[in-house]
Amino acid sequence: MEQVKRIDPRLWMLWALSVLIVAVALVSTVLLAVLPAGFAWPERTIAAIVLFVFGLGAAWLAAHEYRQKERYRRLSKKLGSVYEKVQATFEGMKRAERLSALGQLSAGLAHEIRNPLASISGAAAILRRDRSLDPKQARCVDIIANECRRLDGLLTSFLNFARPRAPRFQTVELAAVLDSTLALADHGVHGKIIHFERQVEPKLPPVECDPEQLEQVLLNLMLNAIEASPDGETVTLSASAGDGRITIRVIDRGHGVAPAHVDRLFDPFFTTKEHGTGLGLPVAHQIMRQMGGALQAHGNPDRGMTFSVILPAKR
Ligand code: ADP
Ligand code: MG
Repeated sequence: MEQVKRIDPRLWMLWALSVLIVAVALVSTVLLAVLPAGFAWPERTIAAIVLFVFGLGAAWLAAHEYRQKERYRRLSKKLGSVYEKVQATFEGMKRAERLSALGQLSAGLAHEIRNPLASISGAAAILRRDRSLDPKQARCVDIIANECRRLDGLLTSFLNFARPRAPRFQTVELAAVLDSTLALADHGVHGKIIHFERQVEPKLPPVECDPEQLEQVLLNLMLNAIEASPDGETVTLSASAGDGRITIRVIDRGHGVAPAHVDRLFDPFFTTKEHGTGLGLPVAHQIMRQMGGALQAHGNPDRGMTFSVILPAKR
């Protein structure tokens, strides 16, 4: 902004020149008026006026040129910044295109990996049934089976992200979806002491959504909340209606998200957990977008996070 206001020294010179012209015209006028010469009064006055007008004209021209130059300078600066923005957008589009191609390729690859993985897992299951295996061999077979299961889960999440199925819309009573989410989340505590709080506004209107996908989203958020919470804390699941939309919130009082990570929460494969996939939130985000809703994350003023699932009241 400062730079736009600063004036080119050459333009100052133009100004100085025009002021000089006006000054010369004025001096000549005065001289013409006061010096006794061979001219008669009306002729002298006319000459003076002509000289004055000439001076003014020159000054006007100089000022006009100065204004034009200033205008062009600002315009070229503006064009420069527009060019930079266009370039950045173009780069962004190229990147998105590359990512989309990469996404399609890796989705195909993930699909291909699944078949041999199923064979390995099947073979491990057959081996496990063999009673002649010694304990060390049995442990190895268990490792193979467990790792196959983990990889299969990862591939399923990845494929859900890359190609989520289209939502199957139904008119749904939210309270039922929330209850079944809470029941499922109860299995995810794995010995931790976590209290669940349910705050559902009475008389919530029925909403059009895919209940299965909504439950998947909420369960993912609940499991993240449980994992982030210390022993003895409460995780709240709330639902309210207003402004033509229904908002379901998962609120925890856990460790929260580091400021440097906030922008990366919905990036595929972003995880801070040793055995995390980093696909829970991006899949949930994708599902909500397909349902015509949204998923937002906010840090709580005191501690912990709030994830808000927003659904339009009417589709
Ligand atoms: P994953 O759970 O496999 O790591 P997610 O996509 O579900 O993958 O979450 C990505 C990351 O976001 C997590 O690793 C964690 O760092 C952060 N995160 C998600 N939910 C919460 C939460 N409720 N509190 C704190 N951090 C969270
Ligand atoms: Mg998760």
